[in-house]
Amino acid sequence: MLACRKTVLRLGPWVRQLHSAFQIAELPETHQMLRQTCQDFADRELIPIASRLDREHSFPGEQIKKMGELGLLAMAVPEQYGGAGLDTLAYVIALEEISRGCASTGVIMSVNNSLFLGPVLKYGSDAIKEKWIPSFTDGQKIGCFGLSEPGNGSDAGAASTTARVDGDSWVINGTKAWITNAWDASATVVFATTDKSLKHKGISAFVLPMPCPGLSLGKKEDKLGIRASSTANLIFEDCRIPRDSMVGEPGMGFKIAMQTLDSGRIGIAGQALGIGQAALDCAVEYASKRQAFGKSITKLQAIQFKLSDMALALESARLLTWRAAMLKDNGKNYTKEAAMAKLAASEAATFISHQSIQILGGMGYVTDMPAERHYRDARITEIYEGTSEIQRLVIANRLLKEYDTE
Ligand SMILES: Cc1cc2nc3c(=O)[nH]c(=O)nc-3n(C[C@H](O)[C@H](O)[C@H](O)COP(=O)(O)OP(=O)(O)OC[C@H]3O[C@@H](n4cnc5c(N)ncnc54)[C@H](O)[C@@H]3O)c2cc1C
Repeated sequence: MLACRKTVLRLGPWVRQLHSAFQIAELPETHQMLRQTCQDFADRELIPIASRLDREHSFPGEQIKKMGELGLLAMAVPEQYGGAGLDTLAYVIALEEISRGCASTGVIMSVNNSLFLGPVLKYGSDAIKEKWIPSFTDGQKIGCFGLSEPGNGSDAGAASTTARVDGDSWVINGTKAWITNAWDASATVVFATTDKSLKHKGISAFVLPMPCPGLSLGKKEDKLGIRASSTANLIFEDCRIPRDSMVGEPGMGFKIAMQTLDSGRIGIAGQALGIGQAALDCAVEYASKRQAFGKSITKLQAIQFKLSDMALALESARLLTWRAAMLKDNGKNYTKEAAMAKLAASEAATFISHQSIQILGGMGYVTDMPAERHYRDARITEIYEGTSEIQRLVIANRLLKEYDTE
């Protein structure tokens, strides 16, 4: 099951070798091997089809199954439940490489790992874990996470979806919006109010199968980017699930959601790094071949400065991301660092992919080259799992506490 045991070394394009050689020297050996495995997988299985998947909005089912075999769909899940039992640093490294190959595949992987299996593993009872984890580890089934609603996204505590007890069941009513993997998922973690008088402290978390009587899907959203991952509303109309479907205790839902997102943000930072790296690779590769005024455009200082700024943004964000991951792995508080990592990496991805198009000139603007897709894919990383504005709020909140200002 361990991804790193299945490493087959294979050299990618020359730009990959250069930046890998630089970074690999800094990682533990197991992480280097994992990184190489994922680079190889992305080069072989994802890069050749990413453009088609985007154009056709098609779910990469075959690739997800192969990733499941490599252990990439349940990276932090202990081996006793069929997972890879790896740490968060391994997870972000893998997610970066997969997203470098295909950002849609990256988000599908991220939602199954962080948002579905994450809360079930951390807060589920033994019975819930036994029931829901093993069949979501090998890529045959994937899960999703229903927190946002049409009326509230950033303000998740204002959830209006309800769950009430009726005999041996919970009965759920309401709509969850923007749910990644919705059309392809076999289960969801969902948040619903069980006691409205307690406001956000009355929200509870549940896990339920998909399809499920009383649960229907909205239309597939037609998105700017990450178009190979499905996004849709989950519509609950008297959806009846067994009483033992709650994850954690009654009223713990908001806390579960926030802690899940803290952790998930490190993954989205990894996804953004992958998109940024792909955009930088594309710019360097193109610039090295493109001639203008009788010489390679890489000889122009204007292009060199852009490349420097792109590499700087990427490397700084990568260090923040690895740091947040390592804090989590060492059992330290990482809320501020996860928000910093996500903010830095998502804004870096947007900046780098924007500059990459500029370096490609007209070729950056057409679908013959991947630069325009990187630009479209990058944008979502500033929105989901907390917008950039929310990350700034989280950082300021923690910072001011550290300074003890009230
Ligand atoms: C492609 C996609 C996939 C998604 N996947 C999922 C998923 O799987 N599960 C899920 O539950 N959700 C998912 N989401 C929802 C996503 O997390 C929300 O869109 C996001 O949290 C923002 O919420 P909103 O869209 O309601 O914007 P709003 O909360 O309405 O925000 C609108 C604007 O106001 C700003 N704003 C809001 N509050 C504040 C504040 N207090 N201070 C400063 N600025 C503020 C925001 O930053 C934003 O710029 C997804 C969204 C998309 C587009």
